[in-house]
Amino acid sequence: MKNICVIGAGTMGNGIAHVFAQNGFSVSLVDVSQDQLNKAIATITNNLDRQVSKGAITSEVKESALNNIVTHTSLAAAVKNAELVVEAATENVDLKLNIFKQIDENAAASCILATNTSSISITKIASVTSRPEQVIGMHFMNPVPVMKLVEIINGYATKKDVTNTIIELSKQLGKVPCVVNDYPGFIANRILMPMINEAVYSLYEGVAGVEEIDTVMKLGMAHPMGPLQLADFIGLDVCLSILNVLHEGFGNPKYAPCPLLVNMVTAKKLGVKTGEGFYTYAKGSKELMVSERFKK
Ligand code: NAD
Repeated sequence: MKNICVIGAGTMGNGIAHVFAQNGFSVSLVDVSQDQLNKAIATITNNLDRQVSKGAITSEVKESALNNIVTHTSLAAAVKNAELVVEAATENVDLKLNIFKQIDENAAASCILATNTSSISITKIASVTSRPEQVIGMHFMNPVPVMKLVEIINGYATKKDVTNTIIELSKQLGKVPCVVNDYPGFIANRILMPMINEAVYSLYEGVAGVEEIDTVMKLGMAHPMGPLQLADFIGLDVCLSILNVLHEGFGNPKYAPCPLLVNMVTAKKLGVKTGEGFYTYAKGSKELMVSERFKK
């Protein structure tokens, strides 16, 4: 495999494009927004520079990685020569179904269609294509260049040789693949999101403050980041939509999103990407400050 198309140039899409390009693949990176594509290339350049300054890669590898990426605003043109498409667009079912219909119409018959969705059913996404046996979940973790895991999700119809191809490809990227089946939240988010939701509930019910909740989980459970800071990092809108998928998918009230989380998403306090969530993220500041709303 040589030609990879990545759809969506946001937080995850730029990271996925980065790791493929760094490992010698030709990457077509697609987004509806040219501005987002420009930001993605700037982010990838910064991240590659950091790797060079740490001695993790040479400046030649950096240059060749950047040369391996071309950007597109037209999905049809970008998927034409792809052997694998990895979709990492906004977490929205209708949007993804629409994107997969378009990919299916424009990509070669042999092309494997992967999605980086955090929670949407792979089987459902596969059902709008003419090749459900070639549709698979390839769930990278954030930040993609750093995190080792790729959760590979078999849809109901995914063929074994497609799974094996994606396992091998993940290893070529220096990642550790882990294969799971297609049920709501897969494994990563089925376990992570109820923990984040419980942390938000603890704050909502006044059991403890933001810093206390995060400190207990960092120091008590050896988590590198507390659940509220992690939620800010993932994006509170992404957390909410995953909890809704778990809630609807299992029909179990234990997954009901905390009303505080719902309010924060409605108020567009989405965490790092909007500059405020449980903490505030001032440009250029490395200090983690609890948001004014949650100060005691
Ligand atoms: P994001 O909001 O940062 O980026 C999404 C991008 O998709 C945006 O740049 C948007 O312009 C683009 N987009 C929207 N519609 C499009 C279309 N029709 N064609 C092409 N591009 C389009 O989102 P993200 O956090 O990068 O999440 C992307 C996917 O990765 C989601 O499915 C999410 O669930 C999953 N994911 C996110 C994380 C995380 O920590 N953020 C982790 C694992 C998986």
